[in-house]
Amino acid sequence: MPFTLPDLPFPKSALGDYMSQETLDYHHGKHHKAYVDKTNGMLSDKGLSGASLAQVIRAAREKGDNPLFNNSAQIWNHSFYWNCLAPPEGQQPSGKLAELIAEEFGSTDQLLAKLKEEAVGHFSNGWAWLVLDRDRLSITSLRDADTPLVHEGMKPLLTLDVWEHAYYIDYRNARPDFAEKVLGNIVNWDFVGQNLDGKGEARADQQG
Ligand code: MN
Repeated sequence: MPFTLPDLPFPKSALGDYMSQETLDYHHGKHHKAYVDKTNGMLSDKGLSGASLAQVIRAAREKGDNPLFNNSAQIWNHSFYWNCLAPPEGQQPSGKLAELIAEEFGSTDQLLAKLKEEAVGHFSNGWAWLVLDRDRLSITSLRDADTPLVHEGMKPLLTLDVWEHAYYIDYRNARPDFAEKVLGNIVNWDFVGQNLDGKGEARADQQG
């Protein structure tokens, strides 16, 4: 079966000015969809029928098939990203996640400042990540389509897309403003907390 473009987990107008309907029309409806279409177009003769998205990503990496890796990893990265977002309702980390944040960073504000720094400092296209490395929180960034799925010690918790297409409509070239507004207001901390079970990969996977 071909891979599909997952529905957004919120209405397109729900993120208000932090992320406009126009951005979501393009970013989800065109960019994310293009990765799905291109991946499906490449899969016909790869001997991977029935493989899950995560299996396709890892097989592409092992074979050095960069076009397939880039497009399939971007399906997963974007599917995960949308789940990391939620309407601005004053949500904050809670429970075990709040404890780990306090332990590792001192406070949520300090975590967000570090994540923003990573997002802003990342040169060119890529993704800023909060991951679980064994039992500790860690911040990093990955280039282009690269994804935690192919890195040891990177259980995905939260990501921010820092490709220019993620912010150009709403924030023009101001990546720092984009990072601050999104991280400070529309993170789905419940989803981030759920991923402490180490099963974040499955939450953006799909069966082929
Ligand atoms: Mn993107």
